Amino acid sequence: MTTEVSKTLIPVEEIERNFREIEPALSDTEARLEAQRCLYCYDAPCTQACPTHIDVPAFIKKIASGNVMGSARVIFNANPIGASCARVCPVEALCVGACVENTLMHQPIMIGRLQRYATDHAMREGAPQLFKPNPHNGKSVGIIGSGPAGLSCAAFLARLGYQITIYEQKEKAGGLDTYGMAEYKMAQIDSLTEVSWIERMGVEIKCNTKVGTDVTLEELETRHEAIFLAVGLGATSRLHIPGEDLPGVYEALDFIDQVKTRQWENVPIATSVAVIGAGNTSVDAVTQAKRLGAEHVIMVYRRSQKEMPAYHYEYELAKSDAVEFQWQTAPVAIIPNADNSGIAALRCVRTQLAPAAGKSKRAEYQPVPGSEFEIPVQMVIKALGQQKRVSFLETIPGINLDPAGRVKVTPESMQTSNPKYFAGGDCVNGGREAVDAAQHGKIAARGIHFVMTGERIQLAGLDDFKFPIPLTGF
Ligand SMILES: Cc1cc2nc3c(=O)[nH]c(=O)nc-3n(C[C@H](O)[C@H](O)[C@H](O)COP(=O)(O)OP(=O)(O)OC[C@H]3O[C@@H](n4cnc5c(N)ncnc54)[C@H](O)[C@@H]3O)c2cc1C
Ligand code: SF4
Repeated sequence: MTTEVSKTLIPVEEIERNFREIEPALSDTEARLEAQRCLYCYDAPCTQACPTHIDVPAFIKKIASGNVMGSARVIFNANPIGASCARVCPVEALCVGACVENTLMHQPIMIGRLQRYATDHAMREGAPQLFKPNPHNGKSVGIIGSGPAGLSCAAFLARLGYQITIYEQKEKAGGLDTYGMAEYKMAQIDSLTEVSWIERMGVEIKCNTKVGTDVTLEELETRHEAIFLAVGLGATSRLHIPGEDLPGVYEALDFIDQVKTRQWENVPIATSVAVIGAGNTSVDAVTQAKRLGAEHVIMVYRRSQKEMPAYHYEYELAKSDAVEFQWQTAPVAIIPNADNSGIAALRCVRTQLAPAAGKSKRAEYQPVPGSEFEIPVQMVIKALGQQKRVSFLETIPGINLDPAGRVKVTPESMQTSNPKYFAGGDCVNGGREAVDAAQHGKIAARGIHFVMTGERIQLAGLDDFKFPIPLTGF
């Protein structure tokens, strides 16, 4: 047994095999046959369940009739990051979960995989020609952050004729689509391909440019008529237990970031790994640690399995990867090895349901006295959710945040309490899915256009244009 965090526990070829996409592309015949199964429902529940309200029956019908480019157009018209969403959307909880075939006790239509079939085709065949941007209207919008929210807003505004600059602090654009998605769902290259087609619509992306450090907010305000905040969330929350800073303790996002490079010899891994937390990010961490060759991967969660926040199918994936679970278990310390060069164990305590307190609907757990025990591990991954970027957001004059640190916006336009700033994505909803961020970007594009021009435009997948709350001009 390896006793330290080491490089590659299994041959690289085996790791490559383990990280092959779990949902590979459909062939032409498979796609055509699957598309022909669709009932093309009127007022389709899948379209309603999709946060960007893609006209699902329309794009599937176009695949069935052989018009694959037209199908891609329907998708990208409602969701500019439709290729990423096809791979990473939790479809069982969204479009596929709503498919009427479920109620008929049939296999639901593979909407995500059909979406991927059409968008991959368009990427290969020249997606940029799908939309002809309006001539430049002489107005400029700055976007902070190049994740799903920023890219979506940029694509819609570029099509409307705006000059768009995205400022991105990381080396590569795409936000968590590029740096966070489990590698067996979507490889980094697929996210970057999608970024490049948005760039070819005329969007400029300045990477390695952190707003607040490399360029000031004041400079942005001078350069641009409006600014869209799409900064997402920040670092993983801390555990606040002894040993948290020992070598061998990783934040889930840093660990996944390393996996995304596919430089397997540099990705930290150990024979026994504990992952703390039970959300979707924790599942991504446990399943990827397993695929890197860890023998024992243990998910540690202070509540019971019933309260696990991860989607059910994500839990099933972790089970099928032989992940071990320690429910009602809270970490209390990370124990160093003999020479303090790494970790020997994770010390935990069992928890039990606490008596109902106050108005909280969530089951609360408290430690069971005298129940401490140790799990021998050489690596600990913290997956406790991300913190809000409060310190950055508070530097923007007049921006109101809610008590949880989310940016407050007018939902019809995504305009913030500072009229020059709009916001969307994880920094507004506190962290949901890529497709929710894409929808925020679209709503913000319509809101920005209205504030700048007074024109009420329709964009695919948005309700009729009505702003009950008057927008503030600037
Ligand atoms: C590990 C993990 C796995 C996930 N898996 C899935 C999944 O399978 N399916 C799914 O649908 N969703 C998934 N999500 C959620 C999804 O990634 C997010 O909801 C989505 O990326 C939010 O988009 P965003 O644009 O708001 O933020 P982000 O994608 O976080 O993008 C924000 C960008 O802003 C940049 N930025 C921040 N501050 C500054 C600054 N001051 N200057 C310049 N740039 C800045 C950041 O570097 C980043 O690139 C996952 C999330 C995590 C953490
Ligand atoms: S964007 Fe996501 S939720 Fe919407 S139809 Fe496509 S796969 Fe389904």
